[in-house]
Amino acid sequence: MYEFSILNFAATPNSQLHEPHHVDERRIRSQFVTAAALQRDLEREIAGEVRFDPVSRALYATDASVYQIEPLGVVVPRTAQDMVKTVAIARRHGVSITARGGGTSQAGQAIGAGLQLDTSKYLNHILEVNVAERWAWVEPGVVLDELNAALRPHGLRFAPDISTASRATIGGMIANNSSGARSVLYGKTIDHVLELKVVLADATTAHFRPIAGADLDAASAEDTLAGACHRTVRETAARCREEIDRRFPKVLRRVGGYNLDLFVDPAKPVNLAKIVVGSEGTLALVTSAKVNLVPLPAARAVLAIEFAVLLDALAATPLVLRHQPSAVEVMDRFILDHARESAALDALRRSILRTEPGALLCVEMYGDRAADLTPRLDALERDLATSGLRCQWRRFVEPAEQARVWSLRESALGLSMAMKGDAKSLSFVEDTAVAPEKLRDYIERFLQIIRGHGTSAGVYAHASVGCLHVRPVVNMKTAEGVAKFAAIANDIADLVLEFGGALSGEHGDGMVRGPFTEKMFGSVLYGAFREVKRAFDPDGVFNPGKIIDTPPLTANLRYGAGYRTPDPPTFFDYSDHGGLGRAVEMCSGLGVCRKTLDGTMCPSYMATREEKHSTRGRANTLRLTMAGRLGEAGLGDAGIHDVLDLCLECRACKAECPVGVDVARFKSEFLAGYWRRHGTPLSARAMAHIHTLSSWASPIAPLANLVSQSGVGRWINEQLLGIDRRRTPPAFVRKTFRAQFAERQRAPGPEPPAPTRGARSASPQSQLPPVVLFADTFTNFNHPHIGLAAADVLAAASVHVRLLPHGCCGRPMISKGLLDAARAAASANTNALHDAAARGERIVFLEPSCLSAVREDAPALLRGDAQRRARTVAGACVLFEEYLDHASQAGQASPDLRPGPARVLVHGHCHQKAMGLLSPAKALLARIPSATIVDLDAGCCGMAGSFGYAREHYDVSRAIGERKLLPAARAMTEGTVLVAAGTSCREQVRHFTGVRALHPAELLAALIRN
Ligand SMILES: Cc1cc2nc3c(=O)[nH]c(=O)nc-3n(C[C@H](O)[C@H](O)[C@H](O)COP(=O)(O)OP(=O)(O)OC[C@H]3O[C@@H](n4cnc5c(N)ncnc54)[C@H](O)[C@@H]3O)c2cc1C
Ligand code: SF4
Repeated sequence: MYEFSILNFAATPNSQLHEPHHVDERRIRSQFVTAAALQRDLEREIAGEVRFDPVSRALYATDASVYQIEPLGVVVPRTAQDMVKTVAIARRHGVSITARGGGTSQAGQAIGAGLQLDTSKYLNHILEVNVAERWAWVEPGVVLDELNAALRPHGLRFAPDISTASRATIGGMIANNSSGARSVLYGKTIDHVLELKVVLADATTAHFRPIAGADLDAASAEDTLAGACHRTVRETAARCREEIDRRFPKVLRRVGGYNLDLFVDPAKPVNLAKIVVGSEGTLALVTSAKVNLVPLPAARAVLAIEFAVLLDALAATPLVLRHQPSAVEVMDRFILDHARESAALDALRRSILRTEPGALLCVEMYGDRAADLTPRLDALERDLATSGLRCQWRRFVEPAEQARVWSLRESALGLSMAMKGDAKSLSFVEDTAVAPEKLRDYIERFLQIIRGHGTSAGVYAHASVGCLHVRPVVNMKTAEGVAKFAAIANDIADLVLEFGGALSGEHGDGMVRGPFTEKMFGSVLYGAFREVKRAFDPDGVFNPGKIIDTPPLTANLRYGAGYRTPDPPTFFDYSDHGGLGRAVEMCSGLGVCRKTLDGTMCPSYMATREEKHSTRGRANTLRLTMAGRLGEAGLGDAGIHDVLDLCLECRACKAECPVGVDVARFKSEFLAGYWRRHGTPLSARAMAHIHTLSSWASPIAPLANLVSQSGVGRWINEQLLGIDRRRTPPAFVRKTFRAQFAERQRAPGPEPPAPTRGARSASPQSQLPPVVLFADTFTNFNHPHIGLAAADVLAAASVHVRLLPHGCCGRPMISKGLLDAARAAASANTNALHDAAARGERIVFLEPSCLSAVREDAPALLRGDAQRRARTVAGACVLFEEYLDHASQAGQASPDLRPGPARVLVHGHCHQKAMGLLSPAKALLARIPSATIVDLDAGCCGMAGSFGYAREHYDVSRAIGERKLLPAARAMTEGTVLVAAGTSCREQVRHFTGVRALHPAELLAALIRN
């Protein structure tokens, strides 16, 4: 027997997390504020949402930095007017405001102790686009990728191309003065912000744009806060002109401090928008921005240069820069080697690299025509050949090839941040910049410092602009680790000064570099920055403690010396992480789960745009709950249930999150404990045991169908089991798949099923071992024709099929948190399937979620010898499409197909995608003569097992499906079929569109040549 309960687990509280945060005097004042009065005023006066509950505050306590500060409350404004009113109310109550977009900041500037103001949910509109003049007015919560998707038809884009484009907002980019890989061509955000409409600290509004001459004098003379800001910025910049010239680093990438350098030339117009850019929300709140747009490049090419040693790659950068590249990105072996951790990524790595390089330098060039790029690439290659540097290169001219290079870069970088255990690769000296010609020597010294502190780090750099992203590995849960963190930060600050560089090249100062602002700029400019801050924000309303007057470097840490990670007993085996607590801690806040345009993660976020319904929100809530931060009830709290409730357990996060956070499993684990405390509801028991219920219903199928599909039956189902009455449950069959299959086996005829029927390569030598077809619940009791179709296709491929007496895969029990039952199912299935698996037989699944249950969950639910046996079974389990595709590719057998539909739309089941099994499905379908295969990339269907059946999930289930899948199904025309391996996906399509989607086996069986 195992002992489980993560419910009553008493985490050793991290005393630091319970003590008042060491922020600033405003924080101290905040503690005396009557939160209730503030909340009441906000609720009365603004149209947006106001949240002061512990879970909401926990959700906004972190960004992508090493810090954590719990806010007093959260405001989600609906309008710019809400932002104005929030400032007025906060000021009245003496509370600070920290604005927030995607919360992807790495320096702690997106968190604060007062109000968090989240613009991403409602203030995300593109207000106006002027194609002819190439500008747009946008609200601050617009996500960069969404803006650029809207601009693409006009051949335009917002230029700064940051890595977090899928979830970072324009407001956050403005406040951080963000920039990306192509900044050598496009500069930083500041170069593309034309005008800003802002709320000032006294709750007045201002429109900052370039003004000069009499207009400027008039603006500066105004007896308003805006007037005072104009006066202070002009006077301070003029007074400090020489010091600015002396102390501002002469590099393309400097975002630290305030941009006083842009105001020193008295001949230039003054645009206060330019000082708001990069001010990290400390000077004003942006309510809308007029931004410059650039044309999309007509042609581009990439030269991937492999160097034996990193320093040679950096030494080559000045040479490369002479060829006007649009990007020069470098990554070292440490990062490239992380690609080996995933089979798919390793294949990608090997398809791009020719050697085992010490570093890869990716040079991109833009041109007006593809033909223009060839001579430029030739010239660069000539220079490399005569440079004396040891390197090899390869051109990538096709867009798809280039996408593969950038994809390797993104994925390897993501994986390099995914370290299991307490020592993590941390973001704190990750953003320094020096002149590119100094980069080689600088990195050499940088790495010496890292090594000198007894640790390591991978190197990734925007070499074109000398901006270096290095994340040293440090354990912040020990006093030694925290001391190392501070020592490295100090040493690197000294090094940057010595090289005349900038401590922050793109990520900002926040709290991690703010403590060094005075060191970097000197006391005179530090004083000037303080004057600017005081002029804009005399009462310290806006995001205090960032850039200047920051708390000590090691205050407000997310972890900290002595932090003990909770390690509760669990059902699933988390030993590879060192326990559930550490598995949850894998989320470092990168926020990829807030993307909305592609992929599957995270369907509930895509539908709701709520942090709490994102993977990050869920991981953070669980982490804080387990650490005892969310009150007495802990994991048994209804608020936590609410956070996990909309998780569809699609497992997209396991595959798409760069650090592989697996919320679906956390949810099962949580539910198991929750039911223990609150009792397991009948609806959960019924859904979990759908296999048993189906086995009871099937023999009386006509009656069971009449009852379950009638209006009265559906009403009863809704009352008893919470199944929405609008849903019609799938009909049962009286003669199950097993029964029909057995009948066929008994019927006279060739035995085993005619191996050469429709087979292409059915020579006796190519005969494959028999396979076990897994008769899942839906195939067996509801859709036997799919099982028979699969058997036909396998027979046509000369494969002998048999069934074994196994039970339910366990997926419904896992998904409903009935983990004792799931474990029993895992054990029973292991016993039933082990011998076949050990003999080398493959176990073929038709339903991806059943496959993932047996292949991935069952071994994790068992321990010891049972676990080892379950792993043997797991190793034999394959998806039907995967099996046939591999067999076909190996030339062992493939069904001989005749032409069928002209277009086959493929909708991948989430678990199928999470296991990387959509590609074989597409490859298999591509064997249908003259068919065009279209991957819908529609994300999740919204049904996800029984999720969409639940009354309380009906609307969100529909909203998720309506993103892409359901409209695509409705738009189908003659000659097109929709194929989906998942029962729930097909059911969702049928329910909302009336379209009958097919299992791949059904389509293939219909096309077998007789
Ligand atoms: C993995 C990773 C990669 C990254 N890559 C890059 C990169 O390539 N280039 C780059 O420049 N950065 C990068 N960043 C940093 C970060 O993603 C960017 O700075 C991004 O622009 C922040 O946008 P956001 O919407 O998440 O802002 P948030 O983090 O939510 O906020 C950023 C700042 O903006 C302020 N703010 C937000 N909205 C407003 C508003 N309406 N008015 C006033 N202030 C406001 C906040 O208070 C905060 O100080 C990366 C971060 C991560 C985690
Ligand atoms: S399992 Fe799916 S729905 Fe749940 S958090 Fe992960 S991505 Fe979101």
